[in-house]
Amino acid sequence: VSAVEVAQAHLDRMAEVEPKINAFLHIDAETTLEQARAVDARRAAGEELGPLAGVPIAHKDVFTTSDMPTTAGSRILEGWRPPYDATVTRRLREAGLVILGKTNLDEFAMGSSTENSAYGPTHNPWDLSRIPGGSSGGSSASVAAYEAPLSTGTDTGGSIRQPAAVTGIVGMKPTYGGSSRYGLIAFASSLDTPGPFARTVLDAALLHEAFSGHDVMDSTSVDAPVPSVVEAARNGDVAGLRVGVVREFGGQAEGYQPGVLARFQESVELLESLGAKVVEVSCPSFTTALPAYYLIAPSECSSNLARFDAMRYGLRVGDDGTRSAEEVMALTRAQGFGPEVKRRIILGTYALSSGYYDAYYGQAQKVRTLIARDFEAAFQQVDVLISPTTPTTAFPIGERADDPMAMYLADLCTIPSNLAGNAAISVPCGLADEDGLPVGLQIMAPVLGDDRCYRVGAAVEQ
Ligand code: GLN
Repeated sequence: VSAVEVAQAHLDRMAEVEPKINAFLHIDAETTLEQARAVDARRAAGEELGPLAGVPIAHKDVFTTSDMPTTAGSRILEGWRPPYDATVTRRLREAGLVILGKTNLDEFAMGSSTENSAYGPTHNPWDLSRIPGGSSGGSSASVAAYEAPLSTGTDTGGSIRQPAAVTGIVGMKPTYGGSSRYGLIAFASSLDTPGPFARTVLDAALLHEAFSGHDVMDSTSVDAPVPSVVEAARNGDVAGLRVGVVREFGGQAEGYQPGVLARFQESVELLESLGAKVVEVSCPSFTTALPAYYLIAPSECSSNLARFDAMRYGLRVGDDGTRSAEEVMALTRAQGFGPEVKRRIILGTYALSSGYYDAYYGQAQKVRTLIARDFEAAFQQVDVLISPTTPTTAFPIGERADDPMAMYLADLCTIPSNLAGNAAISVPCGLADEDGLPVGLQIMAPVLGDDRCYRVGAAVEQ
């Protein structure tokens, strides 16, 4: 089959299910088919193309694309056409992937449910009344609904792994710096990490390899070879591997759903039956990761979002010649940013202000160091750590929308790996008995040990 035929089949599927799912913010069939025709032409001209050439992909609308608008889910960027491609975008094109459109997300990737998008929520294909996770909820839903075989996401505190878990697909957060942030609209620069979504571990590994690797345009990009994730995903041998169960994650008293814990326990037994040595490992600082994250991430966002000043990009409100630049800026931000983004900017500005810096941001950075040390100590004893990806399955749309603290709990288990920068994946491990919804197993590996996530993921995926 040609790339054009494959793209058209997916565009047809999108036309059929999008009214119910709302995974995409931007679909432009002509631009997509043009890319597909170009791939077919490259192939006809004898060009050696990789394994993903001609495969369609849904792309999170937080990566810049020169041929499609980029909004980051915000009104403040409505109508903005970036003049350049993100490195991830460019590498997708070079690999011959065909971009189906841009996917919905929580505004500036702040959230766990995609309800914070300025363009309406995305619905979970398993149960349309439930959230698809977030912030990369459009990307997870598009793959779970068979609109796309692959998609991209970004993970700052869990935004790839949590949506993957609650939609029953695979989602990987690479080692920080393993994938380029150039052209990714910044939320929290020391945490933001692009990564792949797919329906199988091997597909995720192929996409991971296609867009990862050193990039001179990102000063925090790791200058080391990409771990051999495809080889690991094809291998899946865990005999003799040491697996640590994180003691701090999984107490029923702390709100973990019984069906999540039951599937997690089965994954532990499966790994043991495959020859892995499973032990319990304590990481005491992990219990303080959530509050530390909610100081560090808003602090960085308050600095990053200062660029949306009504002068440079997108929306400009009240610029009728009667107002000062400051007034236009204030009006634009008041209308252009949603409530969660404003909450984060206020929190971050407060935490960074003089007199409070040491008490809040400084403390949070110290906690961050303790978490990295817990990981280091754990990886002296075991090759990977495992936990449930999320405490619960997908919750109903609206249930946590007015309760930021409840929303933040969705990322309880995923945040430590962002703070420490190590690799972590979520792999489906069955359905919860009480609601029939998907459960994810999280596998965490050391910095640049991404291949271990895929090896263990391939062993347990169902
Ligand atoms: N849910 C977390 C937050 O709201 C993580 C978001 C993300 O990883 N982009 O900040």
